[in-house]
Parts: sequence; C-alpha cells; structure tokens
Amino acid sequence: MNLIFLGPPGAGKGTQAGRVETAHGLVQLSTGDMLRAAVAAGTEIGKQAKEIMERGDLVPDEVVVKIISDRIEEKDCANGFILDGFPRTTGQAEALDKMLEEKGLKLNAVIEIRVDDSILVDRIRTRAAETGGDRADDNEETLKKRLEVYHAQTAPLIPYYESQGKLLVVDGMSAIDDVTRDIEDKIGLATA
Ligand code: AMP
Repeated sequence: MNLIFLGPPGAGKGTQAGRVETAHGLVQLSTGDMLRAAVAAGTEIGKQAKEIMERGDLVPDEVVVKIISDRIEEKDCANGFILDGFPRTTGQAEALDKMLEEKGLKLNAVIEIRVDDSILVDRIRTRAAETGGDRADDNEETLKKRLEVYHAQTAPLIPYYESQGKLLVVDGMSAIDDVTRDIEDKIGLATA
C-alpha cells in the first residue's frame, strides 16, 4: 500500500505517519527529515537546501524528486510507503505519477489532514518548545512563510488528487488518537 499524507506544516503528518507505518509495516518517507539529515551531514544537497529551508521556501523539485525516486527503490519499501511532506508542488506530483508508473507502482490514497491556520501557529510554538528549538524553521516568522507556501504551491494538490479519485480528508483538529482512527477507517475503505 502506497500513501501520501498531505497537509500544512504542523498538521500532524509526521506523527500520524509514524503510527500508521508501524501498524501496517509501511515505511515513512519524510523529505523534510531527509533534507535535515543532509544539512546535518553537510552533503552537497544539504548545502544547497540549508538556507532555503531556514527561510521556509521549497527546495527545487528536481532535488526532492531524485531523493524520493532513489529511496522508494530500496528493499524496505517493497511492502509500501507513506510519503510525508512530498509531493509539495504540482510539478512534484506529476513527476511522482510518472515515476510510479515507470516503476510499476500504484498510489492507493492521499490522506489530507485538514487543520485551520490559526491552530497551526500554536502547535508549532509548542513543538519548538518541546524540541528545544531543534528545527531552525520552527519559529513564527518562518511558519508564516511556510503556510503561505503551502497555500500557494501545495494546496493545488488537493483538487489534483480529488480529480484522480484518490483524495480522502480527515479532520486534523480532533484528538491525536481520533485522527489516527479516522485515517485507519479511510485507508480501510480505500483499500477494501
Ligand atoms: P517538513 O519537515 O516537511 O516541514 O519540511 C521542512 C522543509 O524542508 C520545508 O519547509 C522545505 O524547505 C523543505 N522540504 C521538505 N519537503 C520538501 C518538498 N517535497 N519539496 C520542497 N521542499 C521540501
């Protein structure tokens, strides 16, 4: 089973993907985590991505498309994966459709975790406090930028996947366990 978790920064994509991957033997693939690892390791990609990430912009499509294309070919993805934070632009979504077709893979469903912007600011503030400011982009100024980028560049993926009949929407403002249950129910319906 191959899934996408779609939603604004702070919607809970990573948390929910972590829960669902364990329950279904899938692999969570977070381009944000991979890019942060590249920045920490000081690789070429990391050097290219560092400043872009710090200001809340998107790294170029071809960089993340290549990362995902290589990663989903690894053995541990054979049972399926959850894309968390990818795709984030229509260009990435089109590249993903193409690469899945070339690799003989199928996208089962796209789970949109819907959360109002006003709630996200509070959540990011809490996350920054809890993680001791681990993430250079977890601050209010960058969050504003990341939300703008989400609405301008990523939200168009909602009608994109809706028109493919793949979109399933969950209310991301409920309690964490309720969101997980809702996602599990929706996945069950999609794959039944
Ligand atoms: P995230 O952890 O998913 O919130 O991602 C953190 C940052 O990494 C984003 O604000 C972007 O700068 C970069 N990033 C992560 N995934 C992508 C992607 N699919 N396309 C472009 N940039 C990305």
